[in-house]
Amino acid sequence: MRFLHDSLPQRICFGSGEAAASLQREIANLRASKVMVIAAKAEADLAESITTNLPVALRHDDVVMHVPVEVAERARQAAADNDIDALVSVGGGSTTGLAKAIAMATGLPIVAVPTTYAGSEATPVWGLTEGARKTTGVDRRVLPRVIIYDAALTLTLPVSMSVASGLNALAHCVDSMWAPNADPINSAFAAEGIRSLQAGLQKVVAEPAGIEGREHALYAAYLSAVAFASAGSGLHHKICHVLGGAYNLPHAQTHATVLPYVLAFNAPAAPEAERRIAGAFGTTLAIDGLQDLRRELDAPRALRDYGFTEDAIPAAADAILPAVPPSNPRPVTADDLRRLLRAAWSGTDPREAI
Ligand code: NAD
Repeated sequence: MRFLHDSLPQRICFGSGEAAASLQREIANLRASKVMVIAAKAEADLAESITTNLPVALRHDDVVMHVPVEVAERARQAAADNDIDALVSVGGGSTTGLAKAIAMATGLPIVAVPTTYAGSEATPVWGLTEGARKTTGVDRRVLPRVIIYDAALTLTLPVSMSVASGLNALAHCVDSMWAPNADPINSAFAAEGIRSLQAGLQKVVAEPAGIEGREHALYAAYLSAVAFASAGSGLHHKICHVLGGAYNLPHAQTHATVLPYVLAFNAPAAPEAERRIAGAFGTTLAIDGLQDLRRELDAPRALRDYGFTEDAIPAAADAILPAVPPSNPRPVTADDLRRLLRAAWSGTDPREAI
């Protein structure tokens, strides 16, 4: 066994109903006195309810998915105008992403309070979009210093969004099994992430107002993001990156839809990943575990339901091909990608189509 693994320094505060108290303690630890609270309009009340005891200098709700550069620039300017010394983000990956865009330019510390399972809070990856082009990069300065996980804040996340977001986290786990920097530590995080997402999402769907399922899913979201941050982007993330950036498809639903097709494609060539994923699901075959769970959750099924059109398939396949990691367990051709995208577009059973 030989590998190189970077662990990222972050403090994780996990406790339902404890976000306000944790925030107060952590902002005091940072000796911050001019806090910028970032939350989308839809989460503004939620953010206000947990930040009333902070030294808030600015509340910022100009949040847009995939962080357009002009949105990032306005937020950076607002932070500078108000002499901000710490950032608190309350929301999903879009909100965390905006805090990261400010931190990238200023070095300001972020305390992230995630309210979806996107996992951006546990990665040093930033993303910006300019026109239809999404650029991502890695910068340690954007890694939040502190993450505050409070599952009570996710009770308002609709079940369908919880499922899509949870499957986005599951995609981090699965893809990290064969991503360029896959290693046994990432795989251990990912396997526990799959187990916990399976149990958590089943509970969220059965009892949306219950806290236990939400806690499992949130805990798993962290594990999945740690695995992804360390392993890097595998075939699945490369495909979704192109689809999200060039066709403006919704992030979580795109990941939820594409994942079974990538798993069906790669798993036969990746026996160790297949064994670990199937083991985590408790099934003989990994793809059966994923598809059983997707059926139970009534998961997003076809890319055509999210605005992707059949005539876009050839160009999308051509755009993805150069980004495919050379270390992918199975060689990938443009034909393979067209077949995979067509199956994901139509929603046919990946066990038959791939
Ligand atoms: P999002 O942040 O856009 O949130 C999705 C929707 O859920 C929004 O309408 C939001 O208002 C709503 N919402 C969020 N929390 C809620 C709550 N508790 N109750 C009710 N509604 C709530 O989407 P997302 O899927 O969380 O994140 C997607 C973005 O994050 C993408 O831009 C993606 O690229 C980025 N991302 C980045 C990384 C990274 O490592 N940098 C990782 C994952 C995702």
